[in-house]
Amino acid sequence: MKEIQSNINIIGGGLIGAVTAYSLSKLGNKVVVLEKNPKFNHKNILDKRTTAISEGTKKFLEEINIWNEIGNYAEPIKNIQIIDRNQANKIYFDNQRRKSNLGYIVKNEFILDCLYKKLQKQKNVKIFNNVSVKDVFYEGDRIITKQNNFYINTNILFACDGKNSSIRKIFKTPIYRKDYKKKAIVINFYHSKNHNNTAYEFFFKNGPLAILPMQKNKNQFQSSIVWTNTNKFINSLLSLDDNHIISILNEKTQGSVGEIKKIITKQTFPLKAHLNSKFFENRIIYLGDSAHSFHPIAGQGWNLGMQDVESIYNLVKKYNSLGLELGDELFCKEFQKDNFFKAYRLYQITDKVDSVFKLENTIFNYARFSAINLIEKSKKLKNQISDFAMGVN
Ligand SMILES: Cc1cc2nc3c(=O)[nH]c(=O)nc-3n(C[C@H](O)[C@H](O)[C@H](O)COP(=O)(O)OP(=O)(O)OC[C@H]3O[C@@H](n4cnc5c(N)ncnc54)[C@H](O)[C@@H]3O)c2cc1C
Repeated sequence: MKEIQSNINIIGGGLIGAVTAYSLSKLGNKVVVLEKNPKFNHKNILDKRTTAISEGTKKFLEEINIWNEIGNYAEPIKNIQIIDRNQANKIYFDNQRRKSNLGYIVKNEFILDCLYKKLQKQKNVKIFNNVSVKDVFYEGDRIITKQNNFYINTNILFACDGKNSSIRKIFKTPIYRKDYKKKAIVINFYHSKNHNNTAYEFFFKNGPLAILPMQKNKNQFQSSIVWTNTNKFINSLLSLDDNHIISILNEKTQGSVGEIKKIITKQTFPLKAHLNSKFFENRIIYLGDSAHSFHPIAGQGWNLGMQDVESIYNLVKKYNSLGLELGDELFCKEFQKDNFFKAYRLYQITDKVDSVFKLENTIFNYARFSAINLIEKSKKLKNQISDFAMGVN
């Protein structure tokens, strides 16, 4: 059996695994990535979602020299409107104060494409596709990942294998979890009116509906809807033909982007959130969705995962410069200290915001109406909320 030596082994080459591999390889580390899916190309990518990239994430992507490429596919968000039930009750955000955008919408396939093009040029990165990791164990101070005909012998393993992490199951890391028993439907569509770089978030009783501005395609205005609703509703929506779905969406979106002309793609995702009880095991660090996943109400899951990656990047840089070995107990604990609370906070915020907007009776409607009015009138509160959403607080 062939032995592959590396100082970093990454399980999962999705949005977090790929950027972790790229950033750490730029620090001169020898990186091996094991990914379950076949080699990335546009034909086999099933994920048709977009990601709202925060200003904080953009800054890190600039630091590692990849924003130039990703930015080519990014549509800036210049304004956000939060609408509770109807247009009479809304909050309006812009970013005149910081003179920057409120975020950027990019299709996931373009982010991955840019990352894989960069990774291919890194001589110190080796990617194995069609590899589903099941066998990982310790040999003294080394961690071994065993496959049929080779094994990887390394100092540290980064689990970037998503919310159903196999590594987490192998090492029995406990998690807190919540099943919202709902789904999010993601619909990319063409529409008649210019979105003018505005993102909308409508709050309805059964869950939020966001409209995210995308780059024009074939000279047509394009946006993406993320709509959370009960499983029963989403299943019945999917049983309708596109014309019928379009008429429902036209009513729900209240003319924000004009008439919906054509549905391009639709996909559903079960709504579940979780938080690992800790973000490390001996010589193993959980990054991104393998450590935490959230209700997508605020579009922050990947952005928080990117804060994990930035933190690891800085830690590895420090250890490399001091000539220290990666992955000892101190290393893992330092990562946990810097990142656990941020994830716990986002888990609580997304969960509570979802429940507040769901409540419907005279008292709660009045309380929400008053809170929205208060925020709309308070510059300070608005600035705090937009800084949080931008990942710059
Ligand atoms: C509807 C919806 C909308 C969202 N919108 C936003 C948004 O606007 N902004 C934002 O910041 N976040 C958003 N998110 C969250 C975001 O999509 C996730 O946080 C992000 O995709 C996590 O990336 P990841 O690489 O950690 O996990 P994944 O994308 O799940 O990648 C995991 C990878 O590991 C591989 N893998 C799994 N098991 C194994 C194994 N045993 N061996 C080898 N490989 C394995 C998988 O094939 C996959 O490639 C949204 C989420 C949802 C559901």
